[in-house]
Amino acid sequence: MGYAYDTTNIFARILRGEIPNKTVLETEHTLAFHDIAPQAPVHVLVIPKGPYVNFDHFANEASAEEIADFTRTAGQICRAMNIAPGDGDAGYRTISNAGDHGVQEVPHYHLHILGGRVLGRMLKRAD
Ligand code: AMP
Repeated sequence: MGYAYDTTNIFARILRGEIPNKTVLETEHTLAFHDIAPQAPVHVLVIPKGPYVNFDHFANEASAEEIADFTRTAGQICRAMNIAPGDGDAGYRTISNAGDHGVQEVPHYHLHILGGRVLGRMLKRAD
């Protein structure tokens, strides 16, 4: 199993500072920024700084330090955006699309964090 990472993808360009982003939080290994076409009042993307294509690539091949940093940053975003139910807020959904069936558009691993409205059922049929 191997993945080829496309260094020209838009999130790689964001990480290199070639195009702007609306940063929410940045750490040593992770960047979180607002989605350019938000599908809910809160729509933040969390990405590792390393060259990982999707969730399974990251989860299987990233270092424990990268994984811990990514996961903790995503958790901090939920609280910072006031959508964490444990803080009395209304809740959220995390999504990560992979490959053709996942309908992934950008081939750099990212976690969508969505909230601020009722999000409906998890999946609808595509047809
Ligand atoms: P996916 O379909 O899971 O690959 O989602 C890609 C997401 O990236 C979409 O929600 C886009 O709106 C978002 N996106 C694409 N380009 C940018 C950008 N330059 N800045 C922020 N978000 C972006």
